Amino acid sequence: MEHHLIDRDRVGLQDAVLLEDYTSEDAFVDNLQKRFKEDVIYTYIGPVLVSVNPYKELDIYGPKDVKDYDNKHFFEVPPHVFAITDTAYRSLKEENREQCILISGESGAGKTEASKKVLQYIAEVTDHKGEVERVKDKLLFSNPVLEAFGNAKTNRNDNSSRFGKFMDIQFNFEGNPVGGNILNYLLEKSRVISQAPGERNFHIFYQLLIGADDALLDQLSLKRNLGSYYYLSNGVNGTSAGIYDQKDFNEVKKALKTLEFTEKEQTEMFSIISAILHLGNVGFSETEGVSAIVKPELIDTVSKLFSCDSKELKHALTHRTIETIRDVVVSPLNRELSVYARDALAKAVYDRLFTWLVKRLNDSLQPLNNRTNTVMDENDFKGNYSFEQLCINFCNEKLQQLFIELTLRSEQEEYEKEGIQWTHVEYFDNKIICDLIEEKHKGLIAFMDEECLRPGEPDDKTLLAKLNSKLNNHPHYISHEKADIKLQKIMGRDEFRLIHYAGAVTYNIKSFMEKNNDLLFRDLRETMTNSTNDIIRAVFLESEQKSKKRPETAITQFKNSLNNLMIILRDKEPSYIRCIKPNDTKSPAIFDEQLVKHQIKYLGLMENLRVRRAGFAYRRLYERFLQRYKCLSKETWPNYHGSPKDGVQILATKLGYDKDDYQMGKTKIFIRHPKTLFATEDAFQLK
Ligand code: ADP
Ligand code: MG
Repeated sequence: MEHHLIDRDRVGLQDAVLLEDYTSEDAFVDNLQKRFKEDVIYTYIGPVLVSVNPYKELDIYGPKDVKDYDNKHFFEVPPHVFAITDTAYRSLKEENREQCILISGESGAGKTEASKKVLQYIAEVTDHKGEVERVKDKLLFSNPVLEAFGNAKTNRNDNSSRFGKFMDIQFNFEGNPVGGNILNYLLEKSRVISQAPGERNFHIFYQLLIGADDALLDQLSLKRNLGSYYYLSNGVNGTSAGIYDQKDFNEVKKALKTLEFTEKEQTEMFSIISAILHLGNVGFSETEGVSAIVKPELIDTVSKLFSCDSKELKHALTHRTIETIRDVVVSPLNRELSVYARDALAKAVYDRLFTWLVKRLNDSLQPLNNRTNTVMDENDFKGNYSFEQLCINFCNEKLQQLFIELTLRSEQEEYEKEGIQWTHVEYFDNKIICDLIEEKHKGLIAFMDEECLRPGEPDDKTLLAKLNSKLNNHPHYISHEKADIKLQKIMGRDEFRLIHYAGAVTYNIKSFMEKNNDLLFRDLRETMTNSTNDIIRAVFLESEQKSKKRPETAITQFKNSLNNLMIILRDKEPSYIRCIKPNDTKSPAIFDEQLVKHQIKYLGLMENLRVRRAGFAYRRLYERFLQRYKCLSKETWPNYHGSPKDGVQILATKLGYDKDDYQMGKTKIFIRHPKTLFATEDAFQLK
């Protein structure tokens, strides 16, 4: 049954490519809205899946649903994340082409949920035997662990991923998963030390305080009182409706067990988490510009938990050693710098613990084979136009560039394979913006790094002045000075603006230097390398060794990992899931058109539709086309004995298809306008 042609008034069109006016954003939104109101959250743009967050549990992911999609033709079942996954999986298994599934959308749009459904589907359709089962368990159980340490409640999403994630699943020749690999990037570590009003720190802090038994809390010198910890105190102080820390902690513990984390590893992890909580409570006083620790006994607790030397840590939090060519100078820190050092330590330790965790998960997912399927779940920074936002928007630019490249490539490939004339499609190329950001010696990143590497105190204002003077002529860069009067009113002098493909974004220069520098005073690094906690020692030693030269800046590390990723993804066959959030209140009933329109623009969906429609809106294998419509001609009904292609040709002629409106490929008929198809379908329905 071809669902996309049925019920086209009540639940809208299954594939937006079939919209009469494909250039109309209103028509597109209207179609999504119609479907959303009927609890139909999935819609296609050709092969791209658009998913609207239902904000309620839908009964569409059960074993029966898995069966409905298992090994079915993509366009013959209603749109679903299972359909995308099934197609990718079959293509991997049957055509031996490596796959990737890219999931994008803003915070709360449903990316993480979608990636879990992808995993669930793969787990269910592959073997249920011994080793395979074990690998699948491990894949599935990495998720709660990653989420505990990498997700947090934000105002947009109670379970927001605060890091970018790529997950590779590797299959053997039978198509069974044999392993996996997770790649993480850019954890929002500033959350460890402070949170916006209404938000929380990473889940694990609360899970530990609420979920751990008394003996463990005792061992970690923790009190079961969220209010006693400064690092948890400036967002929502504590628990939150809809978040079940106790239950989640049990799940994390179960997962750690399944993933074969040793008791020692777990103790070390939780010691680090609690050490960070205690560290946050360390205060400093100042006399004559020299800081002193207010409650030194707190440092004793922290040191015990970090397994480092207490005297050394006290010294490192209040002094700084600077080595010049000639000598070594030890100078005391003032209060402000001590606070900075304390927070930098907390962030660095947490960030490295997270990296260690991902590496540790990868070790337990190590396979013997290497055919891969990548599920990518972008991270969700959003909001105050900060340094992190710039990184994410840069990531979006790169993914958009790849998206256009790969979409055009696959269209072109299909046309060539089918022997159909390919006409070039004009599209917006965002290379100019990518270059503005990343070009060697001339891009924004290059100038940022130059400023960071210059000796002297980092200064955001100097950086902005440099960007303004170097980039002002670029059509996509707007400084305060270059802005017109209207724009100047809403743009501060400490801001600059980039015109991204999805629209203009204003960035505030504040903290760019500090965040890019990512500086941890050397004394603290050394204290940590002497720790007897294996995790801490390992992660600090590793970065010590790498940093014989000056370590790379945060944004350069990000750029490099992004470009490596692009190389990996470019060789794979991509599938896309574009997630949309229907409202800002997590309501299952509201469809906010303005909000949705904004996301459509941001995701480049209209452009996607245009590229798709520039060629043929509809294409179908001859067999399937004939099977459905053979009743429309006496010559093909009830049975046609010639080749399916000839049969379809007979139908096309009989139905009076305009010769410009369709082409006959090797295995498929291609139809340019949906109305031709609708006329055919109407004739079929009347029969
Ligand atoms: P993202 O990863 O894009 O930030 P999530 O995947 O975490 O967003 O989704 C946010 C919340 O929305 C989830 O916690 C869940 O409550 C709800 N949600 C998302 N997708 C679905 C879905 N397919 N079915 C039901 N609820 C969903
Ligand atoms: Mg997420």
